[in-house]
Amino acid sequence: MPTFSSQASSIILFGPPGAGKGTQAVKISQSTGKPQISTGDMLREAVNRGTDLGNEAKGYMESGQLVPDSIIIGLISERLKQPDASDGVLFDGFPRTIAQAEELSRIAKVSTVIMIQVPDEDIVKRIVGRRMDPETGDIFHVKFRPAPEEIVARLIQRKDDNEETVRSRLNAYHQQTKPLSEWYSGLSERSDLRIISVDGRGSIVQVSESIRRELEVS
Ligand code: AMP
Repeated sequence: MPTFSSQASSIILFGPPGAGKGTQAVKISQSTGKPQISTGDMLREAVNRGTDLGNEAKGYMESGQLVPDSIIIGLISERLKQPDASDGVLFDGFPRTIAQAEELSRIAKVSTVIMIQVPDEDIVKRIVGRRMDPETGDIFHVKFRPAPEEIVARLIQRKDDNEETVRSRLNAYHQQTKPLSEWYSGLSERSDLRIISVDGRGSIVQVSESIRRELEVS
């Protein structure tokens, strides 16, 4: 059963892998007060803990394929039952297929879809240089956003952030996820759903400023 009140509305952050969704989600979550729900983070946590779900998802993630819809929908339905989700949430990396979006429309009200646009040729460069601080979750890039010297030694690289897997992830994005932008555009024409489209190629601050400006326009 959905736990959303009728007023509560959620935001979807949509874009290709490496578009900066995770980085921007942290900022949007702070400014809107909506908790960030990242299916990628939830899956990585399940893999690290070695749960049944994690063991099932692992192979898909490591080869750059999408995890089956049934697993994702189960995860999201459980997460939306938590009390902090009752005033709407910020979805990061979900939905990624039409089936997920259809299910989401049954269990939650989405007011806004933020689409971050980044061309394919920039994505590979962004992802293979990406590093994460396991202590804070902060995301850096060896060239575009170097970490402070004192924490460089503890940074880790996601297992699926290598060139070969990135190509599969991009492929999955184009085949299964990109069609959702048309799906949501169609929905916005016959409902009050708002679509915000931003250029994801600027600096982190420039992109977050564009998102903030667009979100403020009512
Ligand atoms: P992300 O951290 O969002 O880039 O996700 C990492 C990996 O987790 C993806 O390449 C997929 O294998 C899996 N994943 C995350 N979210 C989803 C989703 N909504 N649907 C299917 N697979 C997902």
